[in-house]
Amino acid sequence: CGIIGIVGNKPVAERLVDGLRRMEYRGYDSAGICTIHEGALVRRRAEGKLNNLIAELADNPAPGEIGIAHTRWATHGAPTAKNAHPHATEHVALVHNGIIENFKELRAELRDAGRTLESDTDSEVVAHLVSRLVETGHSPQEAVADVLPRLRGAFALAIAFRDHPDILIGARRGSPLVVGYGVNETYIGSDALALAPLTQEISYLEEGDWVVVTRDGASIYNAENTAVTREIRNSGASA
Ligand code: GLU
Repeated sequence: CGIIGIVGNKPVAERLVDGLRRMEYRGYDSAGICTIHEGALVRRRAEGKLNNLIAELADNPAPGEIGIAHTRWATHGAPTAKNAHPHATEHVALVHNGIIENFKELRAELRDAGRTLESDTDSEVVAHLVSRLVETGHSPQEAVADVLPRLRGAFALAIAFRDHPDILIGARRGSPLVVGYGVNETYIGSDALALAPLTQEISYLEEGDWVVVTRDGASIYNAENTAVTREIRNSGASA
């Protein structure tokens, strides 16, 4: 339901949770966060209110200067910690807003290929489809460009890659996603409000766009994988 991602130059966990807090008004049933630290994905999730995730993070911190976070409003699968986002493999962590309509076929394909899915969500298949390509030597960009056309339905996505701790990839089709530009940091989020304490300089992704975010900025592509520019504007959202 709410997505935020930071490619930062200082720890991100607290700021990610703050961004989730600012999207609470949308409603949610569970929440989670994944950072990359010392070559590993560090994932924390909790059922219920954000305070449960904050308590989990107090016991098990999520260090790292890059990460993604999510508040979930369940469409497929009960609102449990196991079904909370991010969904992850050893290599890839992903948060998703929306619905993947063809998830049953995709799940069957992944299971036939011997992959084990852990959740009851429609979202987890996307993490596995991307991961499968990354594991066989494709770049994150190649993997995402290959997987997006296979998805039916509506989505905003943010994806982190264990072996690429300097990028996040976002994508939008049917659910909004914005890019925010900071000083040696770049952000993605469901709305400008979530990013307001971080930056007011934002670009709205257009339908079908996907984006590679680094500390230095963002490279945006349309659904045909052609590099495009999207206007940078002042969101006017107050922190
Ligand atoms: N369909 C996904 C799920 O049920 C995402 C829901 C959302 O937008 O939060 O997990």
